[in-house]
Amino acid sequence: AKDSLGQDLCLFDPAMDEDKRSRRQLAVDLRGAVERGEMRLLFQPQHSLKSGALIGYEALARWHHPVRGVVSPDIFIPIAEETGEIFAIGEWVLSEAARVAIHWPSHLKVAVNLSPVQFQQGDLLQRLIAVVLDAGVSTRQIEFEITESAIIADRTKALYILRRIKALGISIAIDDFGTGHSSLDTLHAFPFDKIKIDRFFLRQAATSSQAVAIVRAVLALGKSLDIPVLAEGIETEEQIAFLVAEGCEQGQGYYYGRPQNAPSREDLGRAFPPP
Ligand code: C2E
Ligand code: CA
Ligand code: CA
Ligand code: CA
Repeated sequence: AKDSLGQDLCLFDPAMDEDKRSRRQLAVDLRGAVERGEMRLLFQPQHSLKSGALIGYEALARWHHPVRGVVSPDIFIPIAEETGEIFAIGEWVLSEAARVAIHWPSHLKVAVNLSPVQFQQGDLLQRLIAVVLDAGVSTRQIEFEITESAIIADRTKALYILRRIKALGISIAIDDFGTGHSSLDTLHAFPFDKIKIDRFFLRQAATSSQAVAIVRAVLALGKSLDIPVLAEGIETEEQIAFLVAEGCEQGQGYYYGRPQNAPSREDLGRAFPPP
């Protein structure tokens, strides 16, 4: 048998190690997972660090595998990117996020992750627009999170797409900043509305002066470009105090809340007192 990439599917080749075999099996199982209703969307709150006010939620996908149970996106997203299933998943995530956010007060945004592979889709823009229009949510309530790897393949095309997205009123955050290929050049050239610092740096900041220096440098960058910075992975009050002292404006992490089902009316009114 051949899969959609034309590769041989030998699920039970004894020479193939267990890991590779299970990945292959997941790739097979993932096909049609959206249509079968196996995807779920969780929402993790994002807050203003100073006032504690809720500013929005990041939408995070989960796959409920019929046998294995909940599969983490760190496992299935890379597989979906390889097989092309990411197109169906990405569209489902956006429509589900929009369907939920339409019930929120208009100042709350929903942040949706866009895979670099989705940028390869010729009609990405038309598809995104169709999904948002169909849901009827204001484009002002949508934010896309992209990593720099989305830009690398074709900078000119990526810039065109991002400008069109922004012209619709959708905002754009650069995700996992500081990891991978983040460069100053990109920050200047691209119309980002927010910088998200990867949670790795905050975790290291307690013990590493180098990590502290990186957090400071990113915050200085944000300030000089006049782009708000959101710190990921906030788990303690001490981290908030550190970030506020350094001038960071926004945060997300288990301290404020784990990824959860669509927020209730009560959740939407919650605020954390300033530290
Ligand atoms: P990400 O975009 O960097 O998302 C943040 C991840 O950090 C989430 O993991 C979240 O649950 C986790 N996290 C948040 N706060 C804390 C904290 O205080 N402590 C710790 N230890 N972790 C925290 P999750 O949900 O497992 O997602 C992993 C990655 O999978 C995401 O990283 C994102 O790159 C990808 N992903 C998730 N959903 C989607 C999606 O719908 N589309 C695409 N393309 N990628 C997605
Ligand atoms: Ca993200
Ligand atoms: Ca991130
Ligand atoms: Ca990440």
